[in-house]
Amino acid sequence: MRSAHEPDGASPAREREAGRRAFVKMLTAGAAAALAAACEPASARRRGRESATMSTDPIETTDRPARMPVVFAGHGSPMNVIEDNEWSRGFSALGGLVPRPSAILAISAHWFVDGTFLTANPAPRTIHDFSGFPPALYEIDYPAPTRVDLAARVRTLLGEARAGLREDWGLDHGTWSVLRWMYPAADVPVIQLSLDRRLAASGHLALARSLAPLREEGVLIMGSGNVVHNLRDAFGRMRGGDTSTPAWAQRFDEAVKEALLARDAARLTSLVPDTDDGRLAHPSPDHWLPLLYAFGATDASDAVRFPTEGFDLGSISMRNAVFG
Ligand code: ZN
Repeated sequence: MRSAHEPDGASPAREREAGRRAFVKMLTAGAAAALAAACEPASARRRGRESATMSTDPIETTDRPARMPVVFAGHGSPMNVIEDNEWSRGFSALGGLVPRPSAILAISAHWFVDGTFLTANPAPRTIHDFSGFPPALYEIDYPAPTRVDLAARVRTLLGEARAGLREDWGLDHGTWSVLRWMYPAADVPVIQLSLDRRLAASGHLALARSLAPLREEGVLIMGSGNVVHNLRDAFGRMRGGDTSTPAWAQRFDEAVKEALLARDAARLTSLVPDTDDGRLAHPSPDHWLPLLYAFGATDASDAVRFPTEGFDLGSISMRNAVFG
């Protein structure tokens, strides 16, 4: 993929700085709220149309790996889509750390709505659910194919009374900003699962556990959020020229790492919102919950590793995790 600074010959550092300034401008203009609102279009409370003709049998694949790993990606700033930096290189590396999947089920922080839904549009659009960024970001299309039959299959696993199919959502930037690096050819089918903001952590974990059989069917389950995500803090620091990582962010990131290594579900789910650091790390749970889906789809036989660690914009944890 061509990086943003190539066309006009501007220096990478200057281009990056301009992009970061745009990101700060977005926050100061209150666009973060607009971005969140964009995650819930006017039609969001409408249940999607459901097909009565889809097969919900396990998906058959020809070159299926025995059991797919599960991935959690810390996606961070949308600028990572067009910047060649350590985070985007980390996403590229993720693609090489897992067997090639037959399809991807993405659980993105940016589809945080009242209900559990699966994307079932036969031609999912690339959603540019952010504002105030350089034009190059809005020109990116990620035309991955989809698998409506897989959406129906996942709905069956989750419970048909609990989960619905929707055609009014496509791929949001929590998904395509990572997959554009992992699978730049956009040739792996992708569907998304929403985050039901009404559920407690235990409810999310229960849903995640029911996704586990997909791993035997060649499906890569990918949660996309951030282990620490407090934009108000991050941009407040940036405006003041402070790029340091606060102690609470480092403590929380480390606590999450330890809970994952220990496979301690109770400890993990108690971190947000029951601890001071957890409340600072996640004023809203949208970027936290995708990690619970990744963790919940694994078991004690899955070792966890962290191919990328570190912070961007001071306090945004860019930790990635691969389970299994
Ligand atoms: Zn995000």
